[in-house]
Amino acid sequence: MRRLILASLLFCAAPALAQPPNLDRVEIRVERVAPGVAVLFGAGGNIGLSYGSDGNVLIDDQYAPLSDRILAAVRSIDPDPVRFLINTHYHGDHTGGNEAIGGAGAVIVAHDNVRRRLSTQQLVLGNVVPPSPAGALPVVTFSQSVTFHLNGDELRVFHVDHAHTDGDSIIYWTGANVLHMGDTFFNGMLPFIDIDGGGSIDGVLRALDQALNIATDRTVIIPGHGPIARRSDLVRYRDMLSGLRDRVAAEIRAGRSLEQIKALRLADPHGGPTDFFPPDFFIEQLYRDLTMVRGEMG
Ligand SMILES: [Zn+2]
Repeated sequence: MRRLILASLLFCAAPALAQPPNLDRVEIRVERVAPGVAVLFGAGGNIGLSYGSDGNVLIDDQYAPLSDRILAAVRSIDPDPVRFLINTHYHGDHTGGNEAIGGAGAVIVAHDNVRRRLSTQQLVLGNVVPPSPAGALPVVTFSQSVTFHLNGDELRVFHVDHAHTDGDSIIYWTGANVLHMGDTFFNGMLPFIDIDGGGSIDGVLRALDQALNIATDRTVIIPGHGPIARRSDLVRYRDMLSGLRDRVAAEIRAGRSLEQIKALRLADPHGGPTDFFPPDFFIEQLYRDLTMVRGEMG
């Protein structure tokens, strides 16, 4: 059984973040969540869409083979072209459509580190991810934040430090009161934190606290993966992660080894059928993160 889980981890989960799974039968489902705001669900990270009189803004774009289906889904809501494409971070299940959608005329916008990582070879879960072609790279990058003033709303895009990666952005529609969390929020599942890509549990917790400072009970929250959420879901998620983080840190301080900590099965109650990885993997991530000696990253 254990070997089976490991095998499926190697075959499914790791490539899911680096290379597309079989996407032939994937359909893009559209959910309108607020005036001028829709979410596109398919395979890979959830896509946000701002639409209206000033044109379409897309947040993330899943995998390259889905680009035609994604653009058709956008046209079903608003026939105008995609003017801007924002990447919440560099992972292939959020940026795979960059080349096609950028090639169709969208200006790609992301944090500086998204461009830096997409332009160079990366190692994601032991998979070598080659540099992206020039046409897939963000054209406009920022270090802290950028705001879009269109479609009768304001889209505030702000960077959160060393969270899921070192290039994450959260997007807040101030008028529609919608938050797109990128992969700082896996709704209903244990997250993947890309430690090799500059991510950290403490950064994720800081990002969640920033989002909780913005969100009200009426805010629509789009997670990177999983269904649409509300503030109470985000609170539960933050409490679950900080509880696990503190418990693993306490066990490390008490001198326990990774194997001893894994034997406590701390994450098991929080694992779900849609998880990318078994709960053991999350404990390994936490252990590695909390025992890591970091250089200039701090
Ligand atoms: Zn990701």
